[in-house]
Amino acid sequence: MSYDPNNIFARILRGELPCNKVYEDEHALAFHDIAPQAPVHVLVIPKGEYVSQDDFSAGAPDALIAGFWRAVGTVARELGVVEAGYRFLANTGADAHQEVPHFHVHIFGGRDLGRMIKRFDD
Ligand code: 5GP
Repeated sequence: MSYDPNNIFARILRGELPCNKVYEDEHALAFHDIAPQAPVHVLVIPKGEYVSQDDFSAGAPDALIAGFWRAVGTVARELGVVEAGYRFLANTGADAHQEVPHFHVHIFGGRDLGRMIKRFDD
């Protein structure tokens, strides 16, 4: 899948659309999800044109990969969810219901999140 430079997160990165920002550095931008599924629900996106985790891990430069994952950790600490615990998640492709085709990590916290994912036979 080729990168769509007009996807919503690309437009947020360019400042064309607003976001409720929680963190920004040279590698990453983090902002609150517009439809939160937990008391804390923040999205962290890399500053680069990557459709998904697959694309990012295969093609991004080492400095961006390192900087991005450091930013995910920094954001979680700044959100205050480390002590109680949190979950991060990156939907990748159709089976995972990825909606926005710019790689992003969800950080969920602020309540007991239950165990893992829905069982396949539920
Ligand atoms: P995905 O299913 O791609 O992993 O998740 C996309 C997420 O982006 C969803 O949780 C959705 O609520 C969030 N989202 C979609 N559009 C916007 C937007 O314009 N602003 C923000 N802050 N979040 C958005």
